Parts: sequence; structure tokens; C-alpha cells
Amino acid sequence: MNVLMVGAGFSSAVIGRELAEAGHAVTIVEQRDHIAGNCHTERDPDTGVMVHVYGPHIFHTDDREVWEYVQRFSTFKPYENRVKSTVGGSVYSLPINLHTINQFFGKTLRPEEARAFIEAQAATHIDDPQTFEEQGLRFVGPELYQAFFHGYTTKQWGCHPSALPASILKRLPVRFNYNDNYFFHRFQGMPEHGYTALVEGILDHPGIRVHLETPFEAAMARDYDHVFYSGPLDGYFDYSEGRLGYRTLDFERFTHHGDYQGCAVMNYGDESVPYTRITEHKHFSPWEQHDGSVCYKEYSRACGPDDIPYYPIRLVDEKAMLARYVEKAESTAGVTFVGRLGTYRYLDMDVTIREALDAARGFLEHRRDGEPVPAFFKAPL
Ligand SMILES: Cc1cc2nc3c(=O)[nH]c(=O)nc-3n(C[C@H](O)[C@H](O)[C@H](O)COP(=O)(O)OP(=O)(O)OC[C@H]3O[C@@H](n4cnc5c(N)ncnc54)[C@H](O)[C@@H]3O)c2cc1C
Repeated sequence: MNVLMVGAGFSSAVIGRELAEAGHAVTIVEQRDHIAGNCHTERDPDTGVMVHVYGPHIFHTDDREVWEYVQRFSTFKPYENRVKSTVGGSVYSLPINLHTINQFFGKTLRPEEARAFIEAQAATHIDDPQTFEEQGLRFVGPELYQAFFHGYTTKQWGCHPSALPASILKRLPVRFNYNDNYFFHRFQGMPEHGYTALVEGILDHPGIRVHLETPFEAAMARDYDHVFYSGPLDGYFDYSEGRLGYRTLDFERFTHHGDYQGCAVMNYGDESVPYTRITEHKHFSPWEQHDGSVCYKEYSRACGPDDIPYYPIRLVDEKAMLARYVEKAESTAGVTFVGRLGTYRYLDMDVTIREALDAARGFLEHRRDGEPVPAFFKAPL
């Protein structure tokens, strides 16, 4: 078969590789001038620092097959994400842990004491939290909520946390020990030479051709047996039902001689500070030494038609619009929508790779059995 993949991020690279290894011819078109999608990394020519161009990316997973898959294409260096937050003139450790609680309240509580202390703060009268705000107050009480969730979330989503669903804050965001590793997953690390080199390794197969600076056009599909589309779902249908809402990010880049902030990620919880965080990229590669430093000040705002869509909003209105696009997609033959933009979901890299492996295998099975290939292997709703 001849298969066309739209986009050269992890979704297309992994599906393309699986299909190429199964003996099919894969063509990838990518509108940007580089591969790896939003995970793209490149070395800053002046400082030599590996920069995460579209924002910081840390690889973490519990999925052993995905972990072994990525190691086929890159060596990984140990990396654990330790985030700090500047709030009200002090620096705290995130996620909220025993150190944060003791520092914030000027106490020396042990784990069980801290648990009882936080439970006493929690707004236990809220039986069934409906909004992000209620969920936060229910979990941690007003003071920690105000310091660590309210301002940050307001800035990130551009609305009051009472307008956001409780599901955004799924589980108790507090640890009653001194573990400040941001992620819980068993496998964590950073590709030694960056994500773009990793994706390059995945794409390095004689059955795969990549065309950069080539936006998808509907007429291209005629030359192929099937299309995998990892671009925006609404874009495929020329936004006929309207634009699915996203938040975009602006990165204000600056350089520094030496160490600017002593850590990779510093959040800013105060609403009065317009940015959400500053990332210092050389700390994502702690095994490297650089005198200079490259930092990004990160601002979040509503995504316009010419901006890069980052975080899908997925509130009630967007989901209603999404349902209409899903219906359209399901009545379109020959195209499968994949990845974060194709299914309008936030996906971590490991989930993206897992879904891509499953989609490739599902596709090969459907073709083998002579069944029509579905528009989605993972339902967006
Ligand atoms: C700020 C931020 C931080 C993140 N941090 C992490 C992290 O720490 N850890 C983690 O696991 N995940 C993280 N992620 C998630 C990660 O970025 C995604 O999992 C990953 O990018 C999904 O890959 P994809 O291939 O589905 O999409 P993308 O990487 O977006 O790739 C899609 C590609 O399609 C191209 N394209 C779109 N439309 C067209 C068209 N019409 N024609 C041709 N090409 C087109 C785009 O240019 C793009 O290159 C983060 C995401 C964001 C937004």
C-alpha cells in the first residue's frame, strides 16, 4: 500500500515506521521546516543549549513497551522533573508536598500530622465538587488553593476556576512526604540528543519519505490508499462547523550568562505576574555543561486562527462542536484521524506513542481482514 501521513510529530512517525516495517510505502507531509512536531528540540547556536522550542518536554511513562520502543531510537539520560513555584515573595517546592506545607504554614509537621492539618483546612462541606475551584478548596483548603492553584489556573486557562470542570484536578494534589518528583511514572528520562534526533531515528527507514514545508491539500489523497491525519480535525473540514477552541502559548526568549534560576521550571502562582512560568532549558540536560543559558518566559492566551494550538479547551461548547466534526469524520472514507490535533485531546508523548502503535496495528488488521478502516482508533469524545 501507499500511505500518506499528515504531520511529522510522534503520531505520524510511529505509525509510519510500523507500516514501513510491514512493507508499505509511507509518505509524510509536514507544513513546518522540521520534524518532531511540538516536541522539536534544537541547539541554540550561541550557547550550545538544547532548546525545547515549543515548550518543555519530559518523557515519563508506566508503559514498558513504549519505554522500550523509544530506547530503540535514542539513548535516554536519567531526568526527574522538580518544579518550584514563586508565590507571595517565597519559593516553594511543587507538587505540594510536606516541605511545601511546612514552609508555607511555618510548621514542622510529620506526615500524619500534616494529613490531619490539611483535612482540617479542607472545605469538607462541599460534598460533590463540580468546578475546579470547589475541587481545589475541597482538597487543600482556601490558603493553599489560593497560593498554588487559583492564580496559575486563571492565567493558564484565561477564565475563573469556577468556570472550569472539577475533573481538571482529578486526584488529591498533595503528598504527605518529601517526594518532589513531579511525575509518578516508573520510567522517566530525557533523550540524550533531544526529541528531534529521536524522531529522526524513528523516520530513518527506506520505506519512509518526508516532505517538509508541504502543507496537506485534499487533492494529495488521490494518490494514496489511505491517509493518516495528525493535523487539526476542524482544519481538515475547513472549519465548516467553527473553530475548536485552544489555548496558545507565547514564549518570550531571553539569554543569561551563568545560571538564571537554578532549576528547569519555576512557576509563578501570583495572578499579578502575567506569565505562568519560566523555563531554563539547560537544566533539562543536566549532563551537559554550558556557560550561557536560554530561558523562556511563558504566557498563555486564547488561540487565534494564526496561532499554534497548544491546549484543547474541551468545555461544553467545544465538545458539542467536536461531536459534529466526529460525525463528519466518521462519514469520510479513507482517512484516519490521530494524535493530539486529530482527536482534539491533550496527550502526553507516551500516550501518543501508545495510541500510534495501536492505530498502526489496528490498521494492518483491518486491511488484512478486508474491513473498512475507521476514522478513529481512539474516540475523541
Ligand atoms: C507546552 C506543552 C508541553 C508539553 N510537555 C510534555 C511533557 O513534558 N511530556 C509529555 O509526555 N508530553 C508533553 N506534551 C505533549 C506533546 O507535545 C504531545 O504528546 C505530542 O506533541 C503529540 O504528538 P502529535 O504527533 O500527535 O502532534 P504534534 O507534535 O503537534 O505534531 C503534529 C504535526 O502536524 C503538522 N501539521 C498540522 N497540520 C498540518 C497540515 N495541514 N499539513 C502538514 N502538516 C501539518 C504540525 O506542523 C505538527 O508538526 C506537551 C505539550 C505542550 C503543548
